[in-house]
Amino acid sequence: MERLQKVIARAGIASRRKAEELILQGKVTVNGKIVTELGVKVGPQDKIEVEGIPVEREEPVYYLLYKPRGVISSVKDDKGRKVVTDFFKDLNQRIYPIGRLDYDTSGLLLLTNDGDFANLLMHPRYEIEKVYVAKVKGIPTREQLKQLEKGIMLEDGMTAPAKVKMLSLDKRKKTAIMEIRIHEGRNRQVRRMFEAIGCQVMKLKRERYAFLDLKGLNPGDYRELSPHEVKQLR
Ligand code: URA
Repeated sequence: MERLQKVIARAGIASRRKAEELILQGKVTVNGKIVTELGVKVGPQDKIEVEGIPVEREEPVYYLLYKPRGVISSVKDDKGRKVVTDFFKDLNQRIYPIGRLDYDTSGLLLLTNDGDFANLLMHPRYEIEKVYVAKVKGIPTREQLKQLEKGIMLEDGMTAPAKVKMLSLDKRKKTAIMEIRIHEGRNRQVRRMFEAIGCQVMKLKRERYAFLDLKGLNPGDYRELSPHEVKQLR
């Protein structure tokens, strides 16, 4: 048995808080009866409706994909480009990515059909560490790296402190391989951070997400998360 608001949130209808509001407003029925208390628990057989619309209850699933470059982090694309869910053709559940990686970025991406889990992980309060490896044009100075570490002004405000390391450099080609660890997930954030110090990102890969990495996977491969991994992320 599970709390009603959690089941509604998992179905992707609303966040847990919003689901609580819907219940209090009398918009939720269980087996045809309006429920307005928050403590109610429901089982798999109970029929739940929100504003008259049945709540679909799929078995929750959780996947880790090694997204290749040249794939859209979405479930469909107007221009007919490949999307991340194309790798999961035989799956019965309707999954979607948790956050996104740019079209040209490769690396670790989680997908699920559990809306509640996705909301939690994407909430800034969760501050999940993501580790990226970037090949950049130009060799950043120590001073510039300190700027990135302290926080740098972007169009949408200051970035939170980051950890930055130079992994290698090619003096002749004037390129460097950088590792950057951030907790935020703004649009094109890593690319914009390096642009802000005058270094264009030529290649970008997400190596880690919290304690998860890409070990044993090639681009396009995926694996299911273990129940223990899901629990640790929550
Ligand atoms: N930062 C970026 O610039 N791009 C990504 O895909 C992820 C983080």
